[in-house]
Amino acid sequence: MTAETFEFQVEARRLLQMMVHSIYSNKDVFLRELISNASDALDKLRIEALRDDTLDADVSDLHIDIETDKDARTLTVRDNGIGMSRDDVVGLIGTIAKSGTAEFLQKLTEAREAGNTAAAEGLIGQFGVGFYSAFMVADEVTLLTRRAGETTGTRWSSTGEGTYTVETVDDVPQGTAVTLRLKPVDNDNRLFDYTSPWKIKEIVKRYSDFITWPIRLITASG
Ligand code: ADP
Ligand code: MG
Repeated sequence: MTAETFEFQVEARRLLQMMVHSIYSNKDVFLRELISNASDALDKLRIEALRDDTLDADVSDLHIDIETDKDARTLTVRDNGIGMSRDDVVGLIGTIAKSGTAEFLQKLTEAREAGNTAAAEGLIGQFGVGFYSAFMVADEVTLLTRRAGETTGTRWSSTGEGTYTVETVDDVPQGTAVTLRLKPVDNDNRLFDYTSPWKIKEIVKRYSDFITWPIRLITASG
């Protein structure tokens, strides 16, 4: 199927700009956000499966995989949770419907203009910038997803520069895989080597220790 190109709405673009030209010193939090989304997706599937026993979904081994590939310089966070339909992807990822976002952007702009990095970091913790924080560490983000109970999947991809593409695809596993094409390592700017299993373990331990679903770390060998 051919990919359709969409433009991010204005607020989404503003938020993305801030992520791409990250002003935060602590970029590690992107992983907390992706794991949190994966965990939410597993919670949602469990609840939906309990409520609807006709739901054609596999709930036997719900978990989160974090896969690193040093050669390809990619990091993938994968869950086999509820997933998203094509409309979900366009609606949830392409727009910022969250009511707190305008306030967040306002405060963030203020903190930035005041040169107050600590305040900016606090805001991220407080509001949780979510999925878009992937663009702090990645120059391309691809999401492959299939909603539990549906037959076709969707691929979403963006370099964070104003547009994203959406494509319907077959043979997608249930749930969501978010793949980051990582920016070059730049330790001075705290862009660490996120293909390093040690680094990933450290971040997971620091920010996602409370997650109740199993988190598996997979290191591609090549
Ligand atoms: P939040 O988690 O605060 O709602 P995010 O920006 O992190 O905001 O995510 C936006 C939305 O995209 C989520 O509310 C969810 O509906 C959807 N989403 C993101 N990641 C996933 C995922 N792994 N599985 C299913 N839905 C997801
Ligand atoms: Mg989230």
